[in-house]
Amino acid sequence: MLKEERKFAPPAELSAHANVKADAYERAREDRLGFWAEQARRLSWETEPTETLDWSNPPFAKWFADGKLNVAYNCVDRHVEAGNGDRVAIHFEGEPGDSRSITYAQLKDEVSRAANGLIELGVGKGDRVAVYLPMIPEAVIAMLACARIGAMHSVVFGGFSADAIAARIADADAKVVITADGGYRRGKPSALKPAVDAAVSRFDTVEHVVVVRRTGEDTAWTEGRDVWWHELTERQSAEHTPEAFEAEQPLFILYTSGTTGKPKGILHTSGGYLTQASFTHHAVFDLKPETDVYWCTADIGWVTGHSYIVYGPLSNGATQVMYEGTPDTPHQGRFWEIVQKYGVTILYAAPTAIRTFMKWGDDIPAKFDLSSLRVLGSVGEPINPEAWMWYRKNIGHDKAPIVDTWWQTETGSMMISPLPGVTATKPGSAQTPLPGISATVVDDEGNEVGNGGGGYLVLTEPWPSMLRTIWGDDQRFIDTYWSRFEGKYFAGDGAKKDEDGDIWLLGRVDDVMLVSGHNISTTEVESALVSHPAVAEAAVVGAADQTTGQAIVAFVILRGSATESEDLVAELRNHVGATLGPIAKPKRIMAVAELPKTRSGKIMRRLLRDVAENRELGDVTTLTDSSVMDLIQSKLPASG
Ligand code: ATP
Ligand code: MG
Repeated sequence: MLKEERKFAPPAELSAHANVKADAYERAREDRLGFWAEQARRLSWETEPTETLDWSNPPFAKWFADGKLNVAYNCVDRHVEAGNGDRVAIHFEGEPGDSRSITYAQLKDEVSRAANGLIELGVGKGDRVAVYLPMIPEAVIAMLACARIGAMHSVVFGGFSADAIAARIADADAKVVITADGGYRRGKPSALKPAVDAAVSRFDTVEHVVVVRRTGEDTAWTEGRDVWWHELTERQSAEHTPEAFEAEQPLFILYTSGTTGKPKGILHTSGGYLTQASFTHHAVFDLKPETDVYWCTADIGWVTGHSYIVYGPLSNGATQVMYEGTPDTPHQGRFWEIVQKYGVTILYAAPTAIRTFMKWGDDIPAKFDLSSLRVLGSVGEPINPEAWMWYRKNIGHDKAPIVDTWWQTETGSMMISPLPGVTATKPGSAQTPLPGISATVVDDEGNEVGNGGGGYLVLTEPWPSMLRTIWGDDQRFIDTYWSRFEGKYFAGDGAKKDEDGDIWLLGRVDDVMLVSGHNISTTEVESALVSHPAVAEAAVVGAADQTTGQAIVAFVILRGSATESEDLVAELRNHVGATLGPIAKPKRIMAVAELPKTRSGKIMRRLLRDVAENRELGDVTTLTDSSVMDLIQSKLPASG
């Protein structure tokens, strides 16, 4: 179908000094477990592991099981002990313009105080702590404080409703909740604690609510239960001796984004998770901790924030930027202003953001000095080739390689991605399993497809940062991921291999369209639409149709100057037909102002399908803004 022939060689300078070179693939192919055992030595272990993988009871894996380590020590203390205490760990940029830089030495003190504070509140090894915070340094500190004492965090997106918080508190049986009075969103303080109060009042199991003062707005207070973060931490010692825990000590529970249905509570553990988060961050971003300034724009409430704001970068001693707010507050150049201010060298963002910047126009990033950028990352959804090219040209100035990283909450860390010093990159493809990772594409029967073939993405060998189970539901873990194909992990994503054997993600299996007996990928039709100059963003779904089984219905957001007309719709249909073939032509195309997205920015096609099929909407609790659905529904006359 879609032919993408552009290819970009890695910059020679980057290749010459790359952290990880082509030989890593070979080394890992020869001895996969030996390769991961070497990567585990990136970490400081109190007891070095002698076992690498225990796969005697699949799909329940144990990695580095006889090793002991403290995750927070690895992310903080050891950098201070190595003489890098004065290095900035976090440059925090608040939305209103306040900023604060925290060195590794200061981070060590803050994490220690918070750990002592949690101990004072009775939190211990194995307890669950829910974290519901804005993007402020206390979010990182709270997570590391839990890790330091062997408690598990369960971070809930700041901005989720009381119902969503309550469901997650109940599922994890959290003892303490850490929140804030509020955070800044779109130029205004936005309260967080009322949602926590509403959620917590439903249980008598939550013993304390710790509240960070961020906005200073008035906050309801429950005496005896509520504790100010600053009062709790200021009275603690800045000394805390980290205890080493077993490698399989649970580190956190995190719920998936809820794009396809009810979120699943994914359980991650310590040694294997940190090994792969650390290795992939080092390899895929080529991080040089002495000189790079790294910025991951994801929210801490998403797995990307866990692995690539907290555990990956901090275990590698990175200096990073953390930004509290939205990309258009107070103006649409805010991200680029931040890149310029801190001299960001590595940027990790999501396709949804890139398509939004594309819609806002090239002239906005052009006003800022982005010459410091040397590696650009993408994660969260397939990136349309047009958006990839826009990112490369307007943000990377045709020199910074783009790494399109495929992974999931369940995989814990990146799995399929180019390496910036090795791979000749292709717009729109995640390309190659990372060294030590075994991924492929299989057909309906589970047989590996050849080059040029399509089907389902599977992982064929266990990996260190794999989920260990769905919290409290081993059977659902087996059913969801390990039952579709014997002995293989089923990722739930459609994929194909091109003629070179590179992997292209084609969208979720739940979203694949079946038109007149042909499987058609949502991603390919969306990318064809986005490749038209009038379209900034597109979502397509298959809606039941009497003659073709399913018919393609497309929802598009137009670029600045374009307006909806019958001519434009006809032109777009023909454009898709010309790009992909007549069978892929959408039956209906509608211009909309917004698309329904999860809080992590992913398009929720299942809701669009509900609309297109004139059904009641499914679970909307993970949606950013439910009024979007009213707008879309009002545009769409009942379909048959
Ligand atoms: P749920 O599982 O609850 O429906 P979710 O799958 O959106 O939610 P996440 O774990 O946050 O939850 O997202 C992982 C998914 O995101 C992948 O399975 C894939 O569909 C998509 N994804 C992530 N990165 C990429 C990428 N680089 N290319 C293509 N798809 C990607
Ligand atoms: Mg998923």
